[in-house]
Amino acid sequence: MNKLKGCDDLAPNMLLVDQAKQKILDSVSAVKETEEVAIRDALSRVLAEDVQSTINVPSHTNSAMDGYALAGADLPSEGSLTLSVVGTVFAGAPLSLTVNSGECVRIMTGGKIPEGTDTVIMQEHVSRTDDNITITADHKTGQNVRQAGEDLATGDTVFHVGKQLMPADIGMLASIGKPTVKVYRKLKVALFSTGDELCAVGEPLGDGQIYDSNRYTLYTMLKRLNVEIIDMGVIPDQRDLIEQAFQEGSNQADVLVTSGGVSVGEADYVKETLENLGQVGFWRIAMKPGKPLAFGKINNCDFFGLPGNPVSAMVTFYQFVQPALQQMMGMPHVKPLPLKMKCLSDIKRRPGRLEYQRGFISTNEEGDAVVQSTGHQGSGILSSMGNANCFIVLPLESEGVKAGEIVTVQPFSSLI
Ligand code: AMP
Ligand code: MG
Repeated sequence: MNKLKGCDDLAPNMLLVDQAKQKILDSVSAVKETEEVAIRDALSRVLAEDVQSTINVPSHTNSAMDGYALAGADLPSEGSLTLSVVGTVFAGAPLSLTVNSGECVRIMTGGKIPEGTDTVIMQEHVSRTDDNITITADHKTGQNVRQAGEDLATGDTVFHVGKQLMPADIGMLASIGKPTVKVYRKLKVALFSTGDELCAVGEPLGDGQIYDSNRYTLYTMLKRLNVEIIDMGVIPDQRDLIEQAFQEGSNQADVLVTSGGVSVGEADYVKETLENLGQVGFWRIAMKPGKPLAFGKINNCDFFGLPGNPVSAMVTFYQFVQPALQQMMGMPHVKPLPLKMKCLSDIKRRPGRLEYQRGFISTNEEGDAVVQSTGHQGSGILSSMGNANCFIVLPLESEGVKAGEIVTVQPFSSLI
């Protein structure tokens, strides 16, 4: 505890980031319903079945080069050898002949390796005259040949349940000839912002108003997760409207995400309404930005009440909501990789809360990745996120960073 001397924030009732995340992950579960979709429509969907290959990929042993196929046993160990060319194999047009010792066939990339051969010599490495080729001694049996099943063998499990499908995966499914896959249904997420000061984008800004940016960052972060979004707009700080919105959102969606109205000193009826409608905890988390977070259930709907400050809303979304939604979508939880690199900035801070500073990773003259702070770090400074490509994660007890020290970073690209 001495380490935390001078800390202004650490109160006994604060939850640690990891504790909060674990509580959330422990209380949410994957959707049950599944659907069968064409593989082209399965991008970013989550598999609800293990997928086994019913064929070898490739299905036949074939040439990796344009060249000549011959028997490895014929390869000369010294000097040179001349073979007669007895046919030509194109990809998709196999030859049914058997190649004898002393013979070879001209073969194109992807062409099926004919009976009697097991080795391909690149065309650049032979000298050809009429129907003969001459090769030298520096070749190996089996070279330039792709074996049947070397990518996938019949019966291999290609993917396990919970795999979120990316373009390479869609290609893999195509390569085993699977036209459709069973995936979990899309998660439905309802979203609204709270606050009398919020003006909808497209409307003229009134005195004392700000544009509702959170709904746009949250909407697009949700969109990248490939969930179904129900955008409920801005709900003013009025008891009946708030209550109606919480009811409506929770009736329609699996998850309700709101921003604003969860900190101390908020219009009391947000809290009051949530307490009346469901089981919602108002947490203070030992993190910066993003200390207040509401989490719980309204009816059967999981609820996240994010702080209103734009950076806090994004950070809490990335650290808590996104992993929870991914779990609900059917994916196993994977901790972000802790990358370490040199920090070029001095970072002053008081210990007491785990901090997600916005940082920018670049390469230095030696070609190593280095990170620097994006500057002003206020939780309302959305440009600090826009100018960043990572979080610099400073542990609770950190008393700051001196330029040149190693820090842990979480690249944004690893978040999705
Ligand atoms: P709150 O969490 O409601 O106390 O809001 C904290 C701060 O974030 C205030 O300065 C709000 O004006 C601001 N804020 C709340 N909601 C939004 C929003 N949707 N977009 C942009 N700023 C917001
Ligand atoms: Mg508010």
